[in-house]
Amino acid sequence: RFDVSPPWLNRVIEGKPRQFVHAVDGVSFSIPKGKTLALVGESGCGKSTVARLLVGLYQPSAGQIAFDGRNTAEWFAAKDARDLRRRLQMIFQDPYASLNPRWKVGEIVAEPLTEQGLLTDPAAIRARVAELLSLVGLNPLDSEKFPHQFSGGQRQRISIARALATEPEFLVCDEPTSALDVSVQAQVLNIMKELQQRQGLTYLFISHNLAVVRHMADQIGVMYLGRLVELSEKGELFARPRHPYTRMLLDAIPDIHMTGRQRVAVQGEVPNPLNPPSGCSFHPRCPLANERCKTERPALMSFQGVQVACHAVAEGRA
Ligand code: SF4
Ligand code: MG
Repeated sequence: RFDVSPPWLNRVIEGKPRQFVHAVDGVSFSIPKGKTLALVGESGCGKSTVARLLVGLYQPSAGQIAFDGRNTAEWFAAKDARDLRRRLQMIFQDPYASLNPRWKVGEIVAEPLTEQGLLTDPAAIRARVAELLSLVGLNPLDSEKFPHQFSGGQRQRISIARALATEPEFLVCDEPTSALDVSVQAQVLNIMKELQQRQGLTYLFISHNLAVVRHMADQIGVMYLGRLVELSEKGELFARPRHPYTRMLLDAIPDIHMTGRQRVAVQGEVPNPLNPPSGCSFHPRCPLANERCKTERPALMSFQGVQVACHAVAEGRA
């Protein structure tokens, strides 16, 4: 369970005025072992903030995050924090920026092993790096090359190999294929799925792309301006989207149900996350908004097993 409130945002912004962090509030979910929860939403909705909170890059000011039943804020500060860091890893969006260009691939992949003190013998490190590169479909001889000698898709495989070095159980994947060509995206996603099945990995998968999420997720959480507005099983979300924002996102996917329906553009702009609209923050863009929506923020409530935050759904007029 995970919950973060606005005072935390204000502290971060006061402390580092040039760093922009999106507020996240009232976001609560759990991910069963071996499953994938995807968070979707337009940029600025707080998805990356959630990702960074989970791996301890940011501290929540309220609420809590638990991994394997243990509070992570306490665990990150405890003597055995290294064990938690080993078990949680993150894959970032941009494989160009996240790989040190001056290091050989072998050194990049080996870094978590040496940093965590898991392996010290050079021959054992080399063997493990070769194994990891094979796991993601690269050649063990690639360890002698530099990142610039690889394509975007190959670089993301290198990032994945590095993330897997410590044998993590939980991977936070923040838009892992968004920087890649469409043709390469599917290859990387398939590798991630295969690795999940083989190694029983659990994923938090972040994307703005519902087609990608459809391929990867078991459960989907839709975020809007720092809040979870719908949380549902994947099949249910695509078959019966409840929240008007979820419907808008689904309508923007080209012909997902092969109905010959025209693609509808997502309407309107995302408001400034630092100054969200009153009431339901989606109201300026919502076709179902009424007076209540402008003043009263809808709580996330359960409808037939689906969590939705919308007055129209609660009133039975959606
Ligand atoms: Fe639209 Fe109102 Fe529902 Fe918000 S609460 S999504 S404005 S109908
Ligand atoms: Mg992001």
